[in-house]
Amino acid sequence: RETSARDNNVAKIKVVVRKRPLNKKELSRKEDDIVTVFDNACLTVHEPKLKVDLTAYVEKHEFCFDAVLDENVTNDEVYRETVAPIIPTIFQRMKATCFAYGQTGSGKTYTMQPLPLRAVEDMVRLLHQPVYRNQRFKLWLSYFEIYGGKLFDLLCDRKKLCMREDGRQQVCIVGLQEFEVSDVQVVREFIERGNAARSTGSTGANEESSRSHAILQLAVKKHNEIKESRRNNSDGNEAKSGKLVGKISFIDLAGSERGADTTDNDRQTRIEGAEINKSLLALKECIRALDNDQIHIPFRGSKLTEVLRDSFVGNSRTVMISCISPNAGSCEHTLNTLRYADRVK
Ligand code: ADP
Ligand code: MG
Repeated sequence: RETSARDNNVAKIKVVVRKRPLNKKELSRKEDDIVTVFDNACLTVHEPKLKVDLTAYVEKHEFCFDAVLDENVTNDEVYRETVAPIIPTIFQRMKATCFAYGQTGSGKTYTMQPLPLRAVEDMVRLLHQPVYRNQRFKLWLSYFEIYGGKLFDLLCDRKKLCMREDGRQQVCIVGLQEFEVSDVQVVREFIERGNAARSTGSTGANEESSRSHAILQLAVKKHNEIKESRRNNSDGNEAKSGKLVGKISFIDLAGSERGADTTDNDRQTRIEGAEINKSLLALKECIRALDNDQIHIPFRGSKLTEVLRDSFVGNSRTVMISCISPNAGSCEHTLNTLRYADRVK
C-alpha cells in the first residue's frame, strides 16, 4: 500500500539536465564556462556573439526543467534524482525508460554507466523484502545496440537481432540473450563485456559508438516452479519461461550532433546520420505523445522507438537526462540539446 502511494508520486515524464565540469583541454584553452545553474531547476546559457561591427556581446538564454544538476553533483545524486524513485514501481508492473541525450563528450556514458549498477543494488534489496521474497521473482539483464537501424546483441558476439510483435502487441527481440543477475559485480562484468563489443569500426571506439544507441534492460520476471523443473529436462530458455513483471531500460543515445551528419561526404556516415536524426525526432514525438496521454503513440517512426514500444504504452515512466558541455565552443550544441529537452517537457 505504501509503495503504491509512492508509485503515484513518481512523475510520468521527468526531464533532468546535467552539466559536466570543464575538462582539461577546455581549461588549457582558457575556454569560458557559459552555463550557470540556479535554483536546482533552471540555467542560463551565456551565448557569446558578435555584432556586425565585430563588438562582442552576450545573448542570454534561460531554461527550466524538473531538475538541473550542476558540475558538482555526483553520480550517486544523479541516481537518487532520476532512477531511484522508479525502482519500486518496476515490481508493480511498470515499464520505465531512462535516456541520456546530448552531444558526444557531454557526459552521457559517464552518467549512464553507474545507473544500472545502483538500480540492481536496490532491486536485489527489494527482492529480499518480505512482500516479494516468496514471489519467485528473478532479475534478467540484456544489452544491445542499435547501429544504422540494425540491432546487435552486445552480450552475444554482436549477433544480429530482429524484432517481432507478438499477438498481444508485445515487442519481442528474437534471439536477444538475457542473463540472470543477482549481484552488482556480475552486472559490472556484463556491462564491461557489452561495452567492449560496441561498434568500434576503424576510427576508434568513442567515434563509432557515438553513432549507436546502447540499450541495457533489467527485467523482473515471475517464475513458475513447475515450468522450471520441466526446463531442466529440455534446452528451454529460462528467461523466456518467466512472466514479465516490469522492466527498466537504460539508453545511452547516439551523439545528438550525429543526426546532423546528413551532409557528410561519406555515404555510410550520411546514412547513419539520417537514421540517428530520424530516431531522435521520433523519440521526442513519442515522449510528447505520452505526456499528452495521446492514444496514438508514433512509435513506428524509427527502430529505436519501435524497440521501446512496450515501454511507451500502458503504465510507463520516462526519465530524460540531457547532458550538456559548459564550454563556449559547445554553445550551439548545448542550446540544441536544451531546446530538444524543452520540447520533450
Ligand atoms: P559522451 O558519452 O556523451 O560522449 P562521456 O560520458 O564519454 O561523453 O564524457 C566525456 C568525458 O568527460 C569523459 O572523459 C568523462 O569521464 C568526462 N565527464 C563527463 N561528465 C563528467 C562529470 N559530470 N564529471 C567529471 N567528468 C565527466
Ligand atoms: Mg558515450
